[in-house]
Amino acid sequence: MQHFNFGAGPAALPKEVVEAAKKGLTDWDGYGQSVMEIPFTGDAYSQIYDDAVTSLRTLLKLPDGYKVLFLQGGAYGQFSILPMNLLRGKNTADYAVTGHWSQRAAKEAEKYCTVNRVIDETSNGYTQITSWSDWSLNSEAAYCHITTNETANGIQIKTLPETGTVPLVADVTSDFLTAPIDIQRFGAIYASAQKNAGTAGLTVVIVKQSLLGAALPITPTVFDYGRLAENNSKINTPPVWSIYIAGLVYRWIIAEGGLNRMAIKNKTNLERLYQTIDKSEFYRSDVSPPARSSVNICFNLPNLALEKKFLLDAEAIGLHNLKGHSDAGGIRISLYNAVTDQAVEALDTFMQEFMVIHSP
Ligand SMILES: *Cc1c(COP(=O)(O)O)cnc(C)c1O
Repeated sequence: MQHFNFGAGPAALPKEVVEAAKKGLTDWDGYGQSVMEIPFTGDAYSQIYDDAVTSLRTLLKLPDGYKVLFLQGGAYGQFSILPMNLLRGKNTADYAVTGHWSQRAAKEAEKYCTVNRVIDETSNGYTQITSWSDWSLNSEAAYCHITTNETANGIQIKTLPETGTVPLVADVTSDFLTAPIDIQRFGAIYASAQKNAGTAGLTVVIVKQSLLGAALPITPTVFDYGRLAENNSKINTPPVWSIYIAGLVYRWIIAEGGLNRMAIKNKTNLERLYQTIDKSEFYRSDVSPPARSSVNICFNLPNLALEKKFLLDAEAIGLHNLKGHSDAGGIRISLYNAVTDQAVEALDTFMQEFMVIHSP
């Protein structure tokens, strides 16, 4: 039986990456040691680190004024670390609350500053996103924080807000490297790796150099963006294995044809699955079509018992991790870069068959 992973994170890795990692597990590049054993002060580590950063800069066409930082602590850690670093003497920040994760980001930031919720979609159940022209943006804010893709709710911001001189910052965890990004629109973006770009233990921050150097005095040294930038992210022991895996993923994306290619593949698969949902009276998505995520498809079946049966039957034929986020319920399909056309074909066929058998 074939196995396909539609999990939202930790998520599917390209099989080529896992194969390559098998070598790194026992003997990295003829070095006679596992990647997990090498000292982070030596040349082998430098090579792994340089390779990952260079590949990422290539993929994103990153201009010189931006720094790539590798940290630990996950995207949830950044909900605190980012305000500590980017308040820069100000005491208020803008947050667009469009789903589960941005709600948490805003709540965490309240420990460090006054949070102005420029929009709060909580009362709409996170099924739509109000156009940014109707947000209450504050020109005195230290930054404006958005979550480009809401992983738990299946909604995505399609048009970036114009924030003038206020730096736009984004949690891009679940749509990072799924499509080209206009990085120059951002002061900073961050993503933990285990959704679409590697394995847990690594968080990538890309930040404009001109915003560095004004971290709050309480900022832990290992999370000080400026200090990290000056030290090639090597203030303490870096997550060597996770950086190695991320580097392999970046290289794989380049070899596959880059971010444009990923976006085209993912769009075809997304449309195919949404068509199955939209054509049926059986499957139901509450997300307003213009706000639909290009990564996570969240939907429901006629009742909870059928949803349970759907998950069990899917699992039994190798279609794994389709359960919705615990806050949102229902079913969730995640279409990250490593999810193949073949996986989507198998899932689509299963959905069609399940519907025929169980329609009233
Ligand atoms: C998963 C996720 C997070 C949390 O990531 P951790 O690495 O578990 O801290 C934050 N934001 C978004 C958009 C996510 O998808």
